[in-house]
Amino acid sequence: SSISVAVAPMLTKLQQDCATPLPVLRSVADSMSADMRAGLAVDGGSDLKMILSYVDSLPTGDEKGLFYALDLGGTNFRVLKVQLGGKDERVISTESEQLSIPQELMSATSEELFDFIASVLENFAQKGGNFNLPPGRKGEIGFTFSFPVKQTSIDSGILIKWTKGFAVSGTAGKDVVACLNEAMDRKGIDMRVSALVNDAVATLAGARYWDDDVMVAVILGTGTNACYVERMDAIPKLQGDFSPSRRTIVNLEWGAFRKGLPLTVFDRDMDAASINPGEQANSKFNLSMLTPISLIFEKTISGMYLGEIARRALMYMAEEGSLFGKSVPEKLSLPFVLRTPDLSAMQQDTTDDLQTVGSVLYDVAGVESDLNSRKIVLEVCNTFVKRAGRLAGAGIVGILQKIEEDTKGAIFGKRTVVAMDGGLYERYSQYRRYLKEAVAELIVPETSRNIVIEHSKDGSGIGAALLAATNSKYE
Ligand code: ADP
Repeated sequence: SSISVAVAPMLTKLQQDCATPLPVLRSVADSMSADMRAGLAVDGGSDLKMILSYVDSLPTGDEKGLFYALDLGGTNFRVLKVQLGGKDERVISTESEQLSIPQELMSATSEELFDFIASVLENFAQKGGNFNLPPGRKGEIGFTFSFPVKQTSIDSGILIKWTKGFAVSGTAGKDVVACLNEAMDRKGIDMRVSALVNDAVATLAGARYWDDDVMVAVILGTGTNACYVERMDAIPKLQGDFSPSRRTIVNLEWGAFRKGLPLTVFDRDMDAASINPGEQANSKFNLSMLTPISLIFEKTISGMYLGEIARRALMYMAEEGSLFGKSVPEKLSLPFVLRTPDLSAMQQDTTDDLQTVGSVLYDVAGVESDLNSRKIVLEVCNTFVKRAGRLAGAGIVGILQKIEEDTKGAIFGKRTVVAMDGGLYERYSQYRRYLKEAVAELIVPETSRNIVIEHSKDGSGIGAALLAATNSKYE
């Protein structure tokens, strides 16, 4: 039809710009390894911050007792308690509760926010259950805090700034663990924070509890991040004399990686249209709250952006190629109207006339489409999700090969597990497939069967509680 005549070359160009053939993947993996090394050498040495987590005792399975986890990372707030029974009994029971942070507390004072968190924790702890702490022993908490902090020990970290729509006054520059401990003291709650971690680190700890071969954890949700188990003597910026057997978890903050990424005009336009061009959005709720970085890994692979990039490409095809006929659907011009779950819903369509694609387009953007235009929409979605999944896979190989370069056989010579979590990975089957395909392409066949990429379902909650246990103040 006349539509495909005009749009076909645009689609071809898009596919060329997004192409991730083996040399592109290899270059991304190699740059990831090199940037990791540079970031481990000296603070500020690379786009990758290579942040020390201070988690240097990993869960072994021997942990016993009642521990708590608390997760603050967005509008949702989660508390969990877990009874650990050691090697034989493992996780005896878990209970958890989730609630949203009241809007007014997101711009309250630091005391008000932490008092609220403390009282939620108190209510939750008082609900009893079948297990109790031994007399005289405080409840210990693993605190997953997914905002930028400058960590100074396993149980302290200075908040650099609030993000994700939080504008709480008086916390920046303070130790968030002290803020919570003080709030608990004010209320006479007999609990304390034993470990402060981010969600990738908590996921790694949670997965490692079940499987000693877990070396890497990757979060692919609204944003993205990765961390891995590193030898302390391979971290020059630690400037100590460590035995090679001592290990710690290093947080890459890999969203800021940016070397060799295949980009399109739509990526650049999206970036330029953001309030602070050239920077990383750190908010899914408030797009005007941005932290400095640049056109980066996070914008090409994470869930926050895939829908928006596709929307921009479709908008262009509608305007310049009459993708949806003579008129351009007005609603399609609204930034972020098309979301990543919409792309995924469309790609699961198995009907002959692509009914789901049609109804998603209509419901989301009031677009009337015919079979031809629906097919093109699917091609556009697939182009971006393929690029994203494959680049994420290349990033993972970059981490694995860095460890392997240091100690031959450490990764590829044995079974190695990469623990994955996050809504994008969990719910987008095409994304998962492209990611795994890229990993397989980059690794020689004899060793690729040693690399296991595994979804760690909700490992982060238990992971944080486990880190409270391994870093317990008792014993
Ligand atoms: P977080 O916001 O903390 O990252 P999640 O790990 O649950 O929380 O990830 C949520 C993100 O996952 C969403 O922003 C979206 O990008 C992506 N997502 C959610 N559902 C789907 C889906 N059905 N298909 C594809 N991506 C999805």
